[in-house]
Amino acid sequence: MTLTFAPTMAAAQAALAAVRPGFYARSRNSLDGAATRLSPYITHGFLTLPEVLAAVVAREPLDVQHRFVFELGWREYFQHVWQQRGEAIFESLHPGLLPDAAYSDSLPADLLNASTGVPVIDTAVRTLYATGHLHNHARMWLASYVVHIRKCHWRAGAEWLYGHLLDGDLASNHLSWQWVAGTGSSKPYLFNADNVARFAPAEWHSPGTVLDTSYDALEQIARDAQADVPAQAPRRRRDDGIDEPERFATPPPGLAPALSAPNAQAVRGRDVWLVHPWALGDVPADLAPNTLCVAAFIAQTHAEHAWSVARWNFVATRMAELASVHWFGSAAELATALSAARSVQTLASAHLGDHLSPQLGCRPVARLFPAVATRCDSFSRWWSRATRQMRKVSDLPGLNLTPADPAATLQPQRNTSS
Ligand SMILES: Cc1cc2nc3c(=O)[nH]c(=O)nc-3n(C[C@H](O)[C@H](O)[C@H](O)COP(=O)(O)OP(=O)(O)OC[C@H]3O[C@@H](n4cnc5c(N)ncnc54)[C@H](O)[C@@H]3O)c2cc1C
Repeated sequence: MTLTFAPTMAAAQAALAAVRPGFYARSRNSLDGAATRLSPYITHGFLTLPEVLAAVVAREPLDVQHRFVFELGWREYFQHVWQQRGEAIFESLHPGLLPDAAYSDSLPADLLNASTGVPVIDTAVRTLYATGHLHNHARMWLASYVVHIRKCHWRAGAEWLYGHLLDGDLASNHLSWQWVAGTGSSKPYLFNADNVARFAPAEWHSPGTVLDTSYDALEQIARDAQADVPAQAPRRRRDDGIDEPERFATPPPGLAPALSAPNAQAVRGRDVWLVHPWALGDVPADLAPNTLCVAAFIAQTHAEHAWSVARWNFVATRMAELASVHWFGSAAELATALSAARSVQTLASAHLGDHLSPQLGCRPVARLFPAVATRCDSFSRWWSRATRQMRKVSDLPGLNLTPADPAATLQPQRNTSS
């Protein structure tokens, strides 16, 4: 299975045009089903959730409870949890099956090299490295194996997967790992070889492996801190391993376009639209004439969460299309350089944390569902609040938004120092 994700708006729109909600609802759990593969474009801001759903319902009316709307809801739910819990999402939200200390902080070499001998796992890892993407079911299998069979801490798995995904999103990824581990949900997610055989093509099937057992047996393994699974269960022939692609916390060598340190000279006196990795949508049409597009990677946002070369390239290539100035630097360097601009606007993103200067005019990310003010610790609670008394998707406030009223949504701060 080889997928490519071109970092262009044309590719994002083509993926959107290919969405078939009826087939999606019937087949989404199967690896060869109708999952949309929109996630790299959604994560990086090419498309907002309201844009995605509006395009789909323009072709086919949907009920709010339609499976496709529901899955978009998962994304917004995880953003809700991140907003409510902040940095706490990077720790276990509550105890899981075993104490945190029972799990290893690093991942075993045979997993990283796709040579565990368990076909579903090795195929998932190879697919991840080759494409930067995995089907949701494959992510669940991989996470469950890493945590419950190999006894690795969910956070080690989450950082590794995040770094190789083109769609890596700290909320969706880390909270999904917690959901699988059972530290963010009421019970852990376990799976066996029968489940793989039902939803995946033959090369993923894993008879005769540690997974070829009952759910009761799997739960015992998951609850046993001492279970030495690789030695305990005969696995199939080991493939020749492959090397894990390197992950980089700073721009990898040869990245194009070349990045320079933020510098005030380039933006002095100009109105600036700041492009960042989570704001790769088209430049807003309502900016002042001659607004300068500046693309920036903020060092702090990458220092703790390294990316594959493929992801750096995906983002940088789109940045090259959008902006004429390209920077990599610390948040402080960026703030100093931008203070020379006449005005600066950008799109908000939780991934930037508090690394953007409060002086910037941040446009909010378009939400599909109404904001739920009280903290919901389960998706079902959030979903029932977010969709209360709604039947048609047109009841969703995000879809009813008229084009942004500049007076209501834009508060560009004028820099007075220039
Ligand atoms: C361990 C694990 C890690 C994950 N890490 C990420 C991640 O880093 N980034 C990410 O976007 N998703 C993540 N997911 C959620 C989900 O697997 C992906 O969003 C989905 O597989 C993307 O493929 P798609 O666009 O074809 O999805 P589709 O099924 O076509 O769904 C359409 C869109 O809805 C959203 N969506 C669907 N399912 C989910 C879900 N369960 N959680 C959150 N959003 C969802 C995504 O934006 C997706 O693009 C993770 C899931 C697991 C189990």
